[in-house]
Amino acid sequence: MKNNTTIDRCSFCGRSRKEVAILISGLNGFICESCVSQASEIIKDEIQHQQKFDLNDIKLLKPKEIKEFLDQYVIGQDDAKKYLSVAVYNHYKRLAQPNTKDDVEIEKSNIILVGETGTGKTLLARTIAKMLNVPFTIVDATVLTEAGYVGEDIESILTRLLQAADYDVKAAERGIVFIDEIDKIARKGDNPSITRDVSGEGVQQGLLKLLEGSIVNVPPQGGRKHPDQKMIPVDTKNILFICGGAFDGIDRKIAQRLNTQVVGYGNSARTAQLDRKNMMQYVAPQDLKAFGLIPEIIGRLPVLTHLNPLDRTALRNILTEPKNAIIKQYVKLFEIDGIKLTFSEETFEYIVDKAVEFKLGARGLRSICEIIMNDAMFEMPSEKVKEFTVTLDYAKSKLDKANLHKLQLQ
Ligand code: ADP
Repeated sequence: MKNNTTIDRCSFCGRSRKEVAILISGLNGFICESCVSQASEIIKDEIQHQQKFDLNDIKLLKPKEIKEFLDQYVIGQDDAKKYLSVAVYNHYKRLAQPNTKDDVEIEKSNIILVGETGTGKTLLARTIAKMLNVPFTIVDATVLTEAGYVGEDIESILTRLLQAADYDVKAAERGIVFIDEIDKIARKGDNPSITRDVSGEGVQQGLLKLLEGSIVNVPPQGGRKHPDQKMIPVDTKNILFICGGAFDGIDRKIAQRLNTQVVGYGNSARTAQLDRKNMMQYVAPQDLKAFGLIPEIIGRLPVLTHLNPLDRTALRNILTEPKNAIIKQYVKLFEIDGIKLTFSEETFEYIVDKAVEFKLGARGLRSICEIIMNDAMFEMPSEKVKEFTVTLDYAKSKLDKANLHKLQLQ
């Protein structure tokens, strides 16, 4: 009788030849098929991780090329794209610069994007990060409060960046942080002496530390739930911060400033030329101050640009033009089931009409499309359909049946 030692076993999991499908023999042992595939996964992950944020691999495209890349994903917003392209180019050029002896130190160019919600601020930041292949995180400024209050600490911003970098500190230190809703931490008034709104200002002071570039001790697990964790020091000097905010009502402050300026010079011709429907395009640092950002923060966000409200043409283009446009995604989903999906042009116009009617902006396009497409996505995979065209009548019938109230809430 064979004893245990003579039975061939996988040297990794210990299962015998009988328990596995394939047992490969080596010089001093065996390996079974499932251990081979597990090992191969480990190798793949490890290689991917090593390559994920290779710092030498940051593709330093020229500003025009960066804009071209952005054009593939983001419709319109040319001004913002140009500012962003130059700022990002300079930022990474600065990082690539060897330490030279001359005294010229290129300063960091953090960016602030001002524009209504749903006009593409986050999308721009996300696309830049995708292009550069650097760790990227989005944080919402509204959840940041001073330590001791309910909410997250400023350092938690960097916890998220560390997590996005798989705890590769060097990679995180060259990442991009998008701080959304920066306007929500504005002081309630321009005059610090009459405001009692300490929390907004406190958060701004905290944020200043990050924006300026300093070594911050970051709790790797975030928050206060893990008080014993060992802090990781992260240098924020080379982290690019992109802030975004809708700054509701800032157009009035811009108008006020422009009116007084122009009156002061006795030049009414200039006011006449102002495009009053889109005052955001004239935004200047003093307007941010009037809105309630402290001057130190404004000083640390030297690149200020605006996003335009999306008009009908922009909304129409967003449906089909970007590289991963909503409609392209449906076409692909149907293609996987062997169904050729098409839409009539009238349907697109109708979807845009509804987005405008319900003031849903670009975000609404997706929810409207979901309502129109849901029945087809439910039924067609089980049917022998080879082609399907979404006509205006079809779209109308689906949307009429739907609970439009639900749409408005999104
Ligand atoms: P914001 O950050 O300005 O509130 P987002 O960037 O999150 O807005 O936009 C919400 C969604 O709307 C995006 O995911 C994208 O699908 C779409 N979108 C908004 N603006 C544009 C644009 N200019 N080009 C293409 N898609 C856009």
